[in-house]
Formats: sequence, C-alpha cells, structure tokens
Amino acid sequence: MAPAAEGGTSGKARAGRGDHSSPKTARAAAGRSGPGSRSEPGSRSEPGSRSGPPPRRPGCEPAAAPHRPKPVARPVSTDDRPGPPAPSGSQEPLAPPGLPRAFDLAGLRRSLSGWYARARRDLPWRRTSDPWAIWVSEIMLQQTRVEAVLPRYEAFLRAFPDPAALARAPEETALALWSGLGYYSRARNLRRGAGIVGERYGGRFPADPVEAARLPGVGPYTAAAVLSIVYGQPLAVVDGNVARVLSRLFRLEPPHGTSPARLRALAQALLDPDRPGDHNQAMMELGALVCVPRTPRCGDCPVAESCLARRSGEAAEYPRRRPVPAPEESEPSLLLLRDDRGRLLLERGRWPLLPHLWLPPVRETAAAETGLPPRLRPVPGSLAELGGFSHAITRHRLRFRVHGGLLRPGPGSLPAGFLLLGVDALEGIGRSSILDKALRVEREAGRKRRAGF
Ligand code: SF4
Repeated sequence: MAPAAEGGTSGKARAGRGDHSSPKTARAAAGRSGPGSRSEPGSRSEPGSRSGPPPRRPGCEPAAAPHRPKPVARPVSTDDRPGPPAPSGSQEPLAPPGLPRAFDLAGLRRSLSGWYARARRDLPWRRTSDPWAIWVSEIMLQQTRVEAVLPRYEAFLRAFPDPAALARAPEETALALWSGLGYYSRARNLRRGAGIVGERYGGRFPADPVEAARLPGVGPYTAAAVLSIVYGQPLAVVDGNVARVLSRLFRLEPPHGTSPARLRALAQALLDPDRPGDHNQAMMELGALVCVPRTPRCGDCPVAESCLARRSGEAAEYPRRRPVPAPEESEPSLLLLRDDRGRLLLERGRWPLLPHLWLPPVRETAAAETGLPPRLRPVPGSLAELGGFSHAITRHRLRFRVHGGLLRPGPGSLPAGFLLLGVDALEGIGRSSILDKALRVEREAGRKRRAGF
C-alpha cells in the first residue's frame, strides 16, 4: 500500500475542531461541500496501478504563463519546521507549519477545489455517503484499477448491502463476487472486518482513527480516506498519486524530503479543514488525471501556479529516484563438508547476509583458517574446488566458489549453530536457493569425475 496518512492531529484535537463522527453530522458536513460531493473517493493508486492515468501525451505540456514574475524555484528544505517569524511590521505572511514561506495555501485550496468540482470522474462510490459502501470501494481500489473495480463494485454491494450481510455469508460466496479483482486476502479481511464492526461498533465503521486502522485490511491510510470522506475528519491521505503531486509541488529530494513523515506533514498542512474529504479526493484525482507519472499535464493543472517543479521545467524529473547504491561484488567460498555417512554440515547465524537460514559454511577463504571449530574443519587434504555459481542478494553480487571436503567430527553433539543433515532431511529446513545451487555444482562435479573428465 502507499504510504499511509496517519494524520497529524490527535483524536482530541480533531474533536476540538468539529467532530463529524455521527451520521447526522457527516451528512451535514457533506451538505456543506455542495451537491454530489458528500462521498467522493478519488483513485488511490500507486503509480500505474489502481487508477490509471489517461492516455499519455508526449512530453510535459507547456505550463500556463504565470501572471507574476517567476520566483527562483528552489527545492523545499527537508526541515519540517516553518520559517522563522516575520519581522515586526513585515507584510510577508507566515508559512503554515510544514509548508515553505509565503506559500499561497488559500489559493491552492481554492484552485484545487474548483477544478475538482469541474473535472472529477463520476464514479459510483462518489454518489453515496454510506460508510460501508465507501469502505468497500477503498478496499477494492487498493492495487486495482478503477476500470477493473467498476463492473464488480455494485454487484458486490447488491449481494452484501451492509457489513452484517458479508459477515454472515460463506467465505466462498464473498470470494466468488470478488473474482477478477485479485488479491483475495482483501476480501477475506473485509469479511472479518465486517464481523468485527458488527460485534463492536454497532455495524458502522468506527469513527476513531486508531480503532478504524486496527480493522483487518484497513490500516492508517484507508482509515484516513474513509474517515475524511464519510465523517469529515481532518486526516490527510497520502497514496502514490498524492506523493507524486507533493514531490513535484515542492521539488522534494529523497531520502529525507520524500520520507513518509515528510509527505504526511505536507499533505496535512495542505488539507482543507472545511472539506477534508473533497480535498483528499481532489489531490488523488489530480495525481490520477493530470499530474500523471511520466508526462504531467502541467498546462491543465489547477495548482501549476504553486508548483516548483513546473516552474523549474523539471516536472517529469520528479519524484526523484533514490540513488541506487553501486553493487558490491565478492567471491566467497562455500564449503560442502560431508561426513562418512554423506551428511552435510550446515550452519546458521554466522553469515551476515542470510543469518536466519541454514547454509553450508560461507567464508572469505576455503583454507583451514575458516573460523570453524577445529572438529568441524575439513580433513587435511580432502578439500577440492568443485565449481562455482552466481547469486545476488540485494546489492551484493556474489560469485560463489564451491569447495567439497570430508568431515570427521567425532562423537558427541555438534557445537551450537551447526547441523549435520542427510539429503532427505534437507527438504525439511527453510533454506536458501544458494544451497540448491551449490548441490547442483557438487552433482555436476561428481558426474564429470565419474565420466573421467
Ligand atoms: Fe505539473 Fe504536477 Fe506541478 Fe501540476 S502539480 S504543475 S501537473 S508537475
């Protein structure tokens, strides 16, 4: 899931600025947002997933000419603190917390809100204020495109018009109506969540963000989306679309500028407290329709005046990719040491790249000074190189040299962290494909030896 908005205010603080936690107040809040705007979840996709962008246009469209002299566009500081107080008598407005100095917050909210009222897509979950219907839409839209959700959403709600209907239905029935959406664990979690909501919350999505985020498959992001849309709670949502818009608006530089905490702080600072649901949906819709991944349509963008990446002509360069560390190459030795019964020596916890798996000893060197306990070292003269194989673990590019040798550990139990296992028993341990590759090298070396190579 995309970085989740956890909100920047406590439940107490939210209650202090208007608690819309009842259906009545939710409807009242919705009414303030204008016709048809009560429940308008936008797409919640990671780039290229749930809500696909419209057909791509070549290049970033030319930006609308600004009506005032262009300020020098600078990347936003990664410091979350607002700018220092303006000197006494200064006309310069203070930056809201989390935003750059002199940011026209009111102008951005106004432009975004007007654009959303004109340009938003007419989608079935935008025609309801039913928390259950919004909840279902949010879960369906996780990692699934709007086009795939549309044919299944209403059929699902017809079959399960409320949480109780889903909770009492057999799981197979729920999964059948989920078919085509994939990620079936979402349907199972939704059904479990529906049962919990019936048992603990009177059949309604809980209004407390912490309680809501504990429901199976919900989490802080989905909780913020549902609570802002349904109950008007001032909780900013940061999904993949919103993260992209923020990265461009403020020219955020990774890693600190694009950290989840920084993105949440910026989204929360932009959030319109009078219409948080509409604002969240507008930001997501902007990312889905205009500020699309490869070729942002800056010429159609309602917030172009505020956008630092657009001003610097680098809109398509953001979000910046994290610098990829150079691969680390090495040639470790892997020791296939067998005792007289053919059992293989394995160890766990020693090799730092895979400390939790049972593997043959991996060392810098195959020589006797391997750090193995003396009784687990290969019989002198038995060690021979069998071949090699390549393997990659994250940025580590490993060229293993496989050495086979004999082991005579003597009687008594092995030191902690070591095992001697026969071939059959190897199937029963959690093991890396490194072991399989090494055994293939051993078999191939044996075949060549028998063939007289
Ligand atoms: Fe262009 Fe996106 Fe900036 Fe809008 S927010 S001006 S679409 S880069």
